[in-house]
Amino acid sequence: MTDLQYPYDSHPEPGTTIEVAPGVRWLTMPMGGGSLNHINLYLLEDADGWWVVDTGLSIDETRDHWHRIFERELDGRPVVGVICTHMHPDHIGQALMITEHFQCPLYMTRAEYYQARAFSAPGGPSYQSSWIGQQFYQRAGMPLEYLESLRRSWEERSNSGMSMPEMPAGYMRLQDGNTLTIGGRDWRVVVGSGHSPEHACLYCASLKVMLSGDQILPVITSNVSVHPTEPLANPLKDWMESHDRFLNTPSDTLVLPAHNLPFYGVRQRLRDLISHHEDRMLAIEEHCATQPATAKELLPVLFSRKLDPRQMMMALGEAIAHLHLLEHRNRIERTLSEDGCYHYVSIDPDLSRRSHPDRHDAPSDGPVLV
Ligand SMILES: [Zn+2]
Repeated sequence: MTDLQYPYDSHPEPGTTIEVAPGVRWLTMPMGGGSLNHINLYLLEDADGWWVVDTGLSIDETRDHWHRIFERELDGRPVVGVICTHMHPDHIGQALMITEHFQCPLYMTRAEYYQARAFSAPGGPSYQSSWIGQQFYQRAGMPLEYLESLRRSWEERSNSGMSMPEMPAGYMRLQDGNTLTIGGRDWRVVVGSGHSPEHACLYCASLKVMLSGDQILPVITSNVSVHPTEPLANPLKDWMESHDRFLNTPSDTLVLPAHNLPFYGVRQRLRDLISHHEDRMLAIEEHCATQPATAKELLPVLFSRKLDPRQMMMALGEAIAHLHLLEHRNRIERTLSEDGCYHYVSIDPDLSRRSHPDRHDAPSDGPVLV
């Protein structure tokens, strides 16, 4: 499907860096088990030190790799700024450690910073123990016991370093269109949405390099989910609109993503991602044209693997994200039935003209957990 070019065939060893463009170094950090074994982070060279882009999980192993990098890879100079593309734990996990160590500022967009602060606050509200979570999953078609198994899997997750870390007490705000001048080169902030609320990418026209975080990944498709915290959100609409805007990125840009390998072919990848989600939505419409379905009943349309509780949460979130965009487009209708579940029915009279049931992509193996 894709025709991307990968200038590197393997990742740098943790604790080491590779220069991928003048003044831009690439490093990786572990992901603490799970299906994905690495996150890519980047260093940008400035006149008086280095900027760090994304920081890794809040686990000891990652902290120790960082100290090796401070000692061996920074030419004896300090970190002068930390940029986190978004608020997920693999991106912000060491932000506090690095900004404390060097007493340097953290740069994030406002929505990402405050969401990270909110989710990392101890004793905050938990949907897993409230009617809000119960209602959300019940309406998606899940049995009541599901919330308990989800709560247990979150407990395990917090032990693996995937919980939200403590954040620095203040930050510098990044906004779409801002320019950061680093090492005499301009890096423009380009904000996308859908995977997280206000995800910052950085684009340098003179180097033709984009740091894309989780907004554009070459192999996996980032999770785009509706969560109980905002049950009527429409993140896939934001995601599609962001992809549309990123299509302006020059086609000879080297994209440096947070997962998988650096690649060329950004426009092709964006087109593939857009058509992937369009295809998933059409498959849902075709299914719901023959019989009303709950979000849970639609999972086999989207995913082929048997899902554990956490994967189930991501998968349901993704299914609902696709349903909400279909509702917005007036192609599907949702009704709350007597059993307490939302049932979805296709309502587009033109569906038969658009449908092609025999030509869909196969369901993905499982939902991606980043
Ligand atoms: Zn993410």
